[in-house]
Amino acid sequence: MSTQEIMELTEKYIMKTYGRLPLALVKGQGSRVWDAEGNEYLDFVGGLAVDSLGHCHPAVVDAVTEQARTLMHVSNLYHIEPQAHLARLLVENSCCGKAFFCNSGAEANEAAIKLARKYAKFKRGQDKFEIITALKSFHGRTLATITATGQAKFQQGFEPLPEGFKYVPFNDLAALEEAIGPHTCAVMLEPVQGEGGVNAAHQSYLEGVKEICDQKGLLLIFDEVQCGLGRTGKLFAYQQYGVEPHIITLAKALGGGFPIGAMLAQDEVAQAFQPGDHASTFGGNPLACAAGVAVMETMLEEGFMAKVNAAGLYFKKWLDVLAGKYNFVKEVRGMGFLLGMELNVEGAGIVAKCQEKGLLINCVNGSTLRFIPPLNVERAQIDRAVEILDGVLSKV
Ligand SMILES: *Cc1c(COP(=O)(O)O)cnc(C)c1O
Repeated sequence: MSTQEIMELTEKYIMKTYGRLPLALVKGQGSRVWDAEGNEYLDFVGGLAVDSLGHCHPAVVDAVTEQARTLMHVSNLYHIEPQAHLARLLVENSCCGKAFFCNSGAEANEAAIKLARKYAKFKRGQDKFEIITALKSFHGRTLATITATGQAKFQQGFEPLPEGFKYVPFNDLAALEEAIGPHTCAVMLEPVQGEGGVNAAHQSYLEGVKEICDQKGLLLIFDEVQCGLGRTGKLFAYQQYGVEPHIITLAKALGGGFPIGAMLAQDEVAQAFQPGDHASTFGGNPLACAAGVAVMETMLEEGFMAKVNAAGLYFKKWLDVLAGKYNFVKEVRGMGFLLGMELNVEGAGIVAKCQEKGLLINCVNGSTLRFIPPLNVERAQIDRAVEILDGVLSKV
């Protein structure tokens, strides 16, 4: 099918929940993708931080193919080998003791919200249910997670919203301390806010939040759906800060393109979930978990993260050079391969021009260009992306 034909079908049959660009991607390899006309692009969107190992990574393709031939799905009424294997890899490499599997980031956060409430009610009393989150956060599109999301634009039109969420400005410890009330049970934060404009938490902020949580008996939940799994240059974003949360949520990169989410919790907290308390039919399905195992084993290979770190710094250095060159660039922020370039001008036109020149990027908050390429993007591809971006910015 041509791009035109695909666009016509989309227009006719798909709900308009996305403002889509006039592009249909049909093939990918590493950090490159091709559209229906055969044009090639460098993919610095990476399926929104999902394609962290690049498109069609052989380890993931092999694992999925092999598992599809063996056993695609059985119920969680039974024990599932790839699920147990993936849980062990996540637990042994994190501060958590148990995993719950689901299919998306929003579901991982729903699970975290339910676990935090259950734990707090059982441990500290029936009146503990409130979760404090940050302004400019993003936690998903279900009713509970749009409510957890500290941005009104995601909530409008869907009221009444579930009760029990409160928002504070990010990186403001005094505001958090003040917001804690008699009903508070947990604090939920993204160590690096993604959709909110690529805002990294300050070191002293996360340390302070952890201290307050410990003092007041609150659970600390890190939403690492976007910033986790190597995105910041460490396997988990919390490891960049040395601040250990009680609960971690994951999704995007976990399946190397296959849909899967996970909620990890420390053993003591995880105990609050008993048989029947929470479930997902597809959650932890053999096929998804086989993909997850392949991703984790690849990311855990000796030297993988060191390479991500070095390449991320190299890319950021070039973005800083561009920031110095163009006075309409306000700031370059972020960590590893979760980088943002805030402009004084609208970003949409720049995104479209980059696409014309063969580079896919996206824009959050109207004016922050976001770069989330595969973690194994090659140096030459980074150079080419910088060259294209430089050319486009020079004509603004
Ligand atoms: C994308 C994202 C989510 C939601 O994940 P879905 O898989 O779209 O439900 C939640 N939290 C953060 C930080 C995200 O970036």
